[in-house]
Amino acid sequence: MEEITDGKIDIDRYRVKEGDKVNLKKYSTGCDVKIDKAKVKSLYFPETIEKMKDLQEKLYAQNTYGLIIVLQAMDAAGKDGTVNHVFSNLDPGGVKVVSFKQPTTEEKDHDYMWRINKALPGRGDIGIFNRSQYEDVIVTRIHDLIDKGQLPKDLIDKNIWEERYEQINNWEKYLHQNGFRMIKIFLHLSKEEQQKRLMDRIVNQQKNWKFSLSDINERQYWDQYQQLYEEMISRTSKDISPWYIVPADNKWYTRYVVARITLKALKDINPQFPKLAPEIAEQLERFKKLISAVDLKSLAEIQESISAKK
Ligand code: ATP
Ligand code: MG
Repeated sequence: MEEITDGKIDIDRYRVKEGDKVNLKKYSTGCDVKIDKAKVKSLYFPETIEKMKDLQEKLYAQNTYGLIIVLQAMDAAGKDGTVNHVFSNLDPGGVKVVSFKQPTTEEKDHDYMWRINKALPGRGDIGIFNRSQYEDVIVTRIHDLIDKGQLPKDLIDKNIWEERYEQINNWEKYLHQNGFRMIKIFLHLSKEEQQKRLMDRIVNQQKNWKFSLSDINERQYWDQYQQLYEEMISRTSKDISPWYIVPADNKWYTRYVVARITLKALKDINPQFPKLAPEIAEQLERFKKLISAVDLKSLAEIQESISAKK
């Protein structure tokens, strides 16, 4: 196991390169590096989210790029906890978290991207998608929802999923070409850990509210889900909008990796505070001189000087 002494995990190990054929069994569900957990929690993680915050401020001030972070996972993989822990330190004014549930009647009355488009972040903002457009090539497929929906029947044939991958890839490329960057994270949980967490939702009163019968129901489709995730990730991981397969069995590690991935995405954008217009910069220079002259001059003199320069 690779030993990490400075907290800098190479997140590239979790990135799916364009064209790779994913076999989820080859990706670890637990922490797969030798790293000091206590140090991650007390030092590396807090440092990373502070750096994220600095870059977010610049992203917001620059107001040109936007960032979208997609989270997909099996139930109980820790999407909500990850969102809470990794992004709660950011300026809430510039972060928009959207959870995509079963489509409403209004949403079903539109194309599947309609609700996703409506939820996109603006320039300068970070959008976090808790589930996403990818549900429409996963859960829709598992439960044959496409046949039950309103899509014209003559448009449904065996190529429909290939077409959807293509639509999603084209849409993400379009966003990229318009200044919106996207990273996609699959929280990779083991079946055993899911069982433990679902059991915890049943026996632990404080977690009862999280329990849903559908979690048990979906668990029966575990293998099918894994297979579809493999196909979907292989077909839609692109250099411009990569998938990361992040181990999800150890929450402290998951959160740290997601923070490092987000930090990298922000660094890649390399946001800068906007440059001041020359006349504003000049005015600020003048004010600076005036303020440092406060000790020497009376307030009246300063006011006189300001109005003279107007
Ligand atoms: P938790 O992990 O806390 O259970 P959750 O994201 O699973 O959170 P839920 O309200 O339990 O939230 O579940 C949302 C459900 O909506 C999921 O079962 C998901 O598959 C389903 N869903 C999301 N998008 C679609 C879609 N386009 N079509 C059909 N079902 C969808
Ligand atoms: Mg659920």
